[in-house]
Amino acid sequence: MKVVFLGPPGTGKGTQAKSISEILNIPNISTGNIFRQLAEENNPLGIEARDKYWGKGCLVPDNIVTDLVKERIQNPDCKSGFILDGFPRTLAQAKSLDKITKIDLVIFICSYEKEIIRRFENRLQCNNCNIVYGLEKEPRKSGYCDECHKKLVKRQDDNPEVLKQRLKIFYKNINPIVKFYEEKGILVEVNGEQEIEKVKEEILGKMQSK
Ligand code: ADP
Ligand code: ZN
Repeated sequence: MKVVFLGPPGTGKGTQAKSISEILNIPNISTGNIFRQLAEENNPLGIEARDKYWGKGCLVPDNIVTDLVKERIQNPDCKSGFILDGFPRTLAQAKSLDKITKIDLVIFICSYEKEIIRRFENRLQCNNCNIVYGLEKEPRKSGYCDECHKKLVKRQDDNPEVLKQRLKIFYKNINPIVKFYEEKGILVEVNGEQEIEKVKEEILGKMQSK
């Protein structure tokens, strides 16, 4: 099954995408994680994307992201499906994706802005496993990853100013994307303000009934 996860920053998209991809044994393709990893590796494109775009809360240009995703989903491990987290983020990206492959289901994880801002204050991430920790999922040892024990870091774009910008861009772009997938009849909504486990069950339920 080829699935897209949509939702504002901080809605738990990444956490859900990771756990559901492990349950279903399909790759989880997070464009945000790809960009962070490229920057970490000092890849020139990765550094440029961070300094010019995502570090400031701006979107990376459509053509760069689309080429990246196109290449990634042509990998043999994507044959029996994948989860896309963080792509598409613009209508142009959604239309390009439509030309590359046929998406089966789009899960829109909703939450209110107040809840999002509260979650960000406590958000830390493991750059090694890409696990996100926060109020709902605290590490066993404060500041360290449960899985690999590396030190957790705060994302460079998780500060109030950049977050405000990220939310603004999200709300500016989301409506046409939702409409695009609604018209195809493949969009479902999930309430992202429930506990992590509840959200996961709801998503799995929607995927199974597809
Ligand atoms: P968020 O938590 O805001 O959803 P992500 O981890 O998905 O963040 O992405 C982090 C940043 O990477 C985005 O703010 C954006 O700058 C860049 N990025 C990720 N995916 C895309 C995309 N599809 N198009 C453009 N930029 C993207
Ligand atoms: Zn880890």
